[in-house]
Amino acid sequence: MIVRKSRGELEAMREGGTITAACLRMLSENVRAGVTTRELDRMADEFIRERGGVPEFKGYQGFPASICASPNSMIVHGIPGSYRLKEGDIISLDVGVRYEGFVTDSAITVPVGEIAPDTEALLRVTQQCLAAATDQMRPGRRLGDVGHAIQSVAEPRGYGVVRDLVSHGVGRQMHEDPQIPNYGDPGTGARLQPGMVFAIEPMITLGGHDIRVSEWDGWSIYTADGSQAAHFEHTIAVTESGPWVLTEREDRVGETGVA
Ligand code: MG
Ligand code: MG
Repeated sequence: MIVRKSRGELEAMREGGTITAACLRMLSENVRAGVTTRELDRMADEFIRERGGVPEFKGYQGFPASICASPNSMIVHGIPGSYRLKEGDIISLDVGVRYEGFVTDSAITVPVGEIAPDTEALLRVTQQCLAAATDQMRPGRRLGDVGHAIQSVAEPRGYGVVRDLVSHGVGRQMHEDPQIPNYGDPGTGARLQPGMVFAIEPMITLGGHDIRVSEWDGWSIYTADGSQAAHFEHTIAVTESGPWVLTEREDRVGETGVA
């Protein structure tokens, strides 16, 4: 069942979403060669708690950290640790915050210094995928339209769309119904209605779409072919007047533009 949220609940989610957004902004400003992913995790944990939120990932099915930090060919679910970022890396930073009983979930992929032109294009295209999916967050559109929008941006340009990981409903739980594949057929699936909230998260690769789960830690998920992957995510509400990006990074939280 897809839970619909009231206007008041969406407003509470937007408040939590501003913390999530500001945390990602803060992290992006601290990404540089030499910093470890564990240091970023500590900064995020402190930042979220200082603002009255709780890092939702910590302890989630035993996950040991407050953010996911996934460099290069690691797509998602990386455990922050001793990995030291280096010039030319990209790093997916994924943050989930619980605030007033609701979760918001958002991710960005950030370059470390100068990156290769094809990697830069990957980041751009993945953001375009998220923008195209966001535009589908309107009453009457269908779940298949959302996945199709992502696929239609990425695949004609030769990028891989990860299929074994999905976008999802979000609210009182981090993962609510439905699961939304980041590919699909237009005009199929459940119809979107006002008050539905989804965490839309395209994961796009410079290679194929197959994945490999780390046997070492059981969490980290890599591209099977070792190609680089990018990941952007927003928590977005469907409203009568169109998409409401609850994790938008904007001036109201002392930010400018999108990372
Ligand atoms: Mg996330
Ligand atoms: Mg998510």
